[in-house]
Amino acid sequence: MMGTHQIIDMRVHCVSIPARAVHSHGSGDVGGINVALCELITDGGLTGWGEASPWPVFTGTLDGNAAALHVHLRPHVIGRDPLQVEPIMAAADRALVGHPEAKAALECALLDLTGQIAGLPIAELVGGRHRDRIPLSFSVANPDFDADLTDVAAIWESGVRIFKLKTGFADHGFDLMRLEKLRDIYGDDIRLRVDYNQGLSAHDAVRHIRDLETFRPDFVEQPVRMHEREALAAITRAVDVPIMADESVFNVREAQQGAVMRIADIFSLKTAKSGGIRRCIEIAAIARSVGIEVYGGCMFETSIAHMAGAHLMAAIPDLTLGCEFYMSTYYAKADLAAAPFPISDGHVHVPKTPGLGTAPDPDKLAHYRTQIFTQGDH
Ligand code: MG
Repeated sequence: MMGTHQIIDMRVHCVSIPARAVHSHGSGDVGGINVALCELITDGGLTGWGEASPWPVFTGTLDGNAAALHVHLRPHVIGRDPLQVEPIMAAADRALVGHPEAKAALECALLDLTGQIAGLPIAELVGGRHRDRIPLSFSVANPDFDADLTDVAAIWESGVRIFKLKTGFADHGFDLMRLEKLRDIYGDDIRLRVDYNQGLSAHDAVRHIRDLETFRPDFVEQPVRMHEREALAAITRAVDVPIMADESVFNVREAQQGAVMRIADIFSLKTAKSGGIRRCIEIAAIARSVGIEVYGGCMFETSIAHMAGAHLMAAIPDLTLGCEFYMSTYYAKADLAAAPFPISDGHVHVPKTPGLGTAPDPDKLAHYRTQIFTQGDH
């Protein structure tokens, strides 16, 4: 019931989980998952969870987002009714510029509490689900391609049919060789995608992407640097394969400008870029209004952030490209949640339990936690 719940504490947990293998990208190597969890506690004993998943070369830093939650957003949360999701998020936007990862964590924890109070999953709170399961993509990003081929074979065996190659960190010939090999082994049954993570120069991009088109990828993601939006628009016009904008579209305003400029055929949605599930739904509405597709992207995340993404992508109409919430299952050495992230038959299954539908296991959280900030710490 409204007005009968009050948030009495926020705890910020910094967590570090090593990876099974380094993943390489056009923007550098990543060897683990470093995130900040936002835990909100009500006077009635409810607990809501959200995750800030920063990537320093892409969004922001762990330190910055932990401080954003603990120091700058805390005063706008304590004493509030968790059902006031938008008023609290509007206050967060007024109090602090940027830090969309921290805002995504806060919004998710508020929606988790609201869902528990209402008895509804987050997907239903934000408009209702179009689907119960979302096709899953795995990212091929190990600089040791033979090791990746072994992983791909095992993941293929488990039912995954979508694979995204991270490119642009070695030479062009290495990228072409890997695409050719995967197309040779798996034929027409495999869906291939390519993500440069800003790794191409605008000068080389059109020629390199045309070379890849032989291997029929579904899309090529973020070939050039995030601010080279005119180049991205020109590449989108020049090549046949659909182009996806990831680093170039963070927020609603960038989506609106990107739609007008037609910088891409697809936008990658990530709660960590946009400040939460509901901002991503706003971006998806802008995209749909001009015939731009959307996709369920992810950062280096645990299953807490994956689950926010799963509720988001369940609530998006006309989803054809799936999602990539594979990190907690196939990349990290361990996960925080008590129950495994729900992947089977190559799909993510969207929970039907109230709220987020997952929470950290206290022992696992204690094991991987590097720092905690609570009410009395500042
Ligand atoms: Mg990307």
